[in-house]
Amino acid sequence: MTSVEQGKLSLLVSADDEVAANGPFSVDVTGTPDDGEKINATITVSPGEPLDLNYGPGSYTFVIAGRTVEETVYAQAESTVEFDGAHDQTVSLVVQVDDEATKALADQRAAEEATRAQAEAEAQARAQAEAEAQARAQAEAERQRAEAAAPSQTNERTVYITRTGEKYHESWCSSLRKSKIPISLSEAEAQGYEPCKNCH
Ligand SMILES: [Zn+2]
Repeated sequence: MTSVEQGKLSLLVSADDEVAANGPFSVDVTGTPDDGEKINATITVSPGEPLDLNYGPGSYTFVIAGRTVEETVYAQAESTVEFDGAHDQTVSLVVQVDDEATKALADQRAAEEATRAQAEAEAQARAQAEAEAQARAQAEAERQRAEAAAPSQTNERTVYITRTGEKYHESWCSSLRKSKIPISLSEAEAQGYEPCKNCH
């Protein structure tokens, strides 16, 4: 044997997932050639296309950092090769979905969404309660104004009855959702209506 065999080192990145396969990927390379400077580089590699590396014999480690794309978490891919320089060698890096981390991310986002929705519902309930209290206070103020303006006609103030109930109500009472028939207080009392406990 007189001729020296010359091998080359190449890198092949592949992915087990369509989204990840859209690459390209940044690959961090650290290496110690048998002779020469240490290598510490970042190279860009498109998946499915072998990339020839100009490295001499030595030990090299290739890393694609883990990352999250939308709702999918990809695990870190790492491979170390001892390159003898005599034979062609291909380093293979496979970018894979990290199922556990992807599920954890989905759970976390669902929990965040639930918390957000709950806070929104609570804020809505608070706003509604405030609006009701305000309407109630306003109705009471109006009633007092009317009473003050016409003290002799107190019993002529308007209350509300429903089509089927036996109580009379203030205008803001929640019992009036289905029907709301105005009637004077004295008339209501004359007809046997009694004050509703909810609004009186
Ligand atoms: Zn009522």
